[in-house]
Amino acid sequence: MITSDAQIKNIDVSNLKGVGPKISSSLNRLKIFSLFDLIFHFPFRYQDRTYISKVSDLTTDSGSVLLCLKVKAVEGFVGSRGKVLKILFADDTGIIEASFFNTYATFVHNFTSGRRVLAYGSIKPDYMTGRPSLVHPEITFLQTNETVTTEEFLTPIYSSTEGLGQAILRKTIKTALDLIQKAPLPEILPKNLNPYGMSLSDAIKGVHYPHPQSDHTPIVPQKLTSFERICYEELIAYQLCLLLLKVSNSSHKAALSVAFDSKLSDDFLHSLPFKPTLAQLKVFNEILEDLNKDIPMARLVHGDVGSGKTLVAIMSALQVIKAGGQCVLLSPTDILARQHFAKCSSLLKEFNVNCLLLTASERKSDRLNLLKAISDGSAQFIIGTHAVFQDDVIYKHLALVIIDEQHRFGIEQRIALLNKAPQGTSAHQLVMTATPIPRTLQLALYSDLEVSTIDELPPGRCPVITALIQMSRKDDVIARLNAVCSRGTQAYWVCPHIEEGENDDVASAKSIYEEISHKLPHLKIGLLHGQMNAKQKNMVMEDFAAGKISILAATTIIEVGVDVPNATIMIINNAERLGLAQLHQLRGRVGRGSAQSYCLLLHNADPENQIAQKRLQIMRTSNDGFKIATEDLALRGPGEIIGTKQAGFDTFKVADVTRDHRLIESARNSALYLKENGIKTAEELIRRWFPQYLTARDNKKDGNSVSQSS
Ligand code: ADP
Ligand code: MG
Repeated sequence: MITSDAQIKNIDVSNLKGVGPKISSSLNRLKIFSLFDLIFHFPFRYQDRTYISKVSDLTTDSGSVLLCLKVKAVEGFVGSRGKVLKILFADDTGIIEASFFNTYATFVHNFTSGRRVLAYGSIKPDYMTGRPSLVHPEITFLQTNETVTTEEFLTPIYSSTEGLGQAILRKTIKTALDLIQKAPLPEILPKNLNPYGMSLSDAIKGVHYPHPQSDHTPIVPQKLTSFERICYEELIAYQLCLLLLKVSNSSHKAALSVAFDSKLSDDFLHSLPFKPTLAQLKVFNEILEDLNKDIPMARLVHGDVGSGKTLVAIMSALQVIKAGGQCVLLSPTDILARQHFAKCSSLLKEFNVNCLLLTASERKSDRLNLLKAISDGSAQFIIGTHAVFQDDVIYKHLALVIIDEQHRFGIEQRIALLNKAPQGTSAHQLVMTATPIPRTLQLALYSDLEVSTIDELPPGRCPVITALIQMSRKDDVIARLNAVCSRGTQAYWVCPHIEEGENDDVASAKSIYEEISHKLPHLKIGLLHGQMNAKQKNMVMEDFAAGKISILAATTIIEVGVDVPNATIMIINNAERLGLAQLHQLRGRVGRGSAQSYCLLLHNADPENQIAQKRLQIMRTSNDGFKIATEDLALRGPGEIIGTKQAGFDTFKVADVTRDHRLIESARNSALYLKENGIKTAEELIRRWFPQYLTARDNKKDGNSVSQSS
């Protein structure tokens, strides 16, 4: 019997009825481990098997339908290789033809004349006659007098993995839902804060098995009230984390007070090949004011791609280091960490700052030396990936934590890193992001932080010229690339996927790599994607940065931070598949030098889809990340489900701040209310949705005893 969240989180999926080792390992591949994970594995769409359509009502726009039919005639195998089986069916209202692909020869023998079947499939115009026809329907054979039952609810379709069919996945999730039907999850959200009047357990069931619309128009899960109910609770929990974090920041132990060394700063600025922008100096001054106090800084530096946030971070780090503190710079990817390390090392060399790179790919023996340098304080500026806040990393006197591309990290990771400050002290924190979020969202997402904005780009940049190009003109693009790259220009060609997916017409990074390598044999083409190991990735990136590679076919892995000023062309394949924030980030990889840069958005957007067309137009006409984000949000009308998850906000299980932005203010108010009037409820909500937050916070309360005692 389940009575608490903790129990359902502790039930391993392998304990469910009907789940053997094979299914459970497939589920694990989908990141489903517990019963709790399983019930939140929501469908991405539904089939409507709740009513039987009549043939006479069908049009070519009918979508997918359930029909109760009789076999009229087997028309036989047709098509160029005789692979398409055609069968004529009828109901009381008319006749309809169905095509079956790649069937085995004996399959045809089942269709004896007059036999009754239940067929579920999509309706498409027949390519000869244009009449509605059934395409490869699922068939259930019926007994002569069998009464046909339809489903009461829509049928969920889940994202799955190899070896785990829809039917099994559906059955497994149904088993889990039946369990929480019998013993519902505790209802933590008080009634007065729940405008939906629906319990969490009912909402979860409602997302898996919704009732059909009265007119049977298709439904997407994200548009359901039950789905919104769940997002709302998660958003309240998130706001509570932020509120509590703010409280603990301001009541915390002393941070290093850094007296501003203006000579040091002037010397550093003189050593640069360029002058800082006024905006960079303004933000630097805001940081200095914070650093001067012994209250820990909590500041977000927000600036469009290419605005030069790294420089501000390095200037701040230099002040802290010369005042005797260690600094750490956390980046989301290996490539970016390496790039920051190279830049920091070279800029800070003449100031005798000892920089150190720490990622997960160092050899064990090297790693021990690195850890020693960090713990004895000889390393002053530590730059790296998630490796920098692992348990065995002990800092002698960490005083400033810098997090680049902060939207890539969860709150708990931020806290884990802050916990690395020596016992009895706090570290200042500087977090940076380029994700262009309108002000309203900024407040909601980062309410525990003060915000500084770099609202100016370095001079001499000419705006990137963006063009929209139909996918069908890809060969023209390749021909043009050939001409310019032969003269030394470098380009990125970004694809949403690594490999070709099934039932997907989206070209992959691998296939583009093969295609351009084949068509442009005299150019050096590189391939970069997330499944390569760190060493391979770094080699490719280094070759590209050094100009040895002309065209880099890549996945969106290069989206964050990568800085190769010589690359001036960005081609984005299937641009209609990506969110605007992500497109803007990708475009920000070019236009970093003084040469004119171009961004070509190759797309297959449906000309009838107004929203898709508008979004691409926004990209074409604007280079301003804030403006793009604001208009993007305004376009998010009903039906719009592309969210920021794509752009790397992995913080949430269900909610999506961009998609659900309309809920945030109200969620924040509910959180404020709970903080004042129901701290126990508040903690339970956080424990349900962001347990890592509590773990990280409680470690902090213990004065990070793990690292100090060892
Ligand atoms: P982002 O804000 O996107 O992180 P970066 O810090 O990577 O931007 O800076 C982008 C590029 O601009 C880098 O090559 C950097 O050296 C350069 N840069 C930074 N500040 C200036 C400046 N004031 N003038 C000219 N170039 C600058
Ligand atoms: Mg950056």
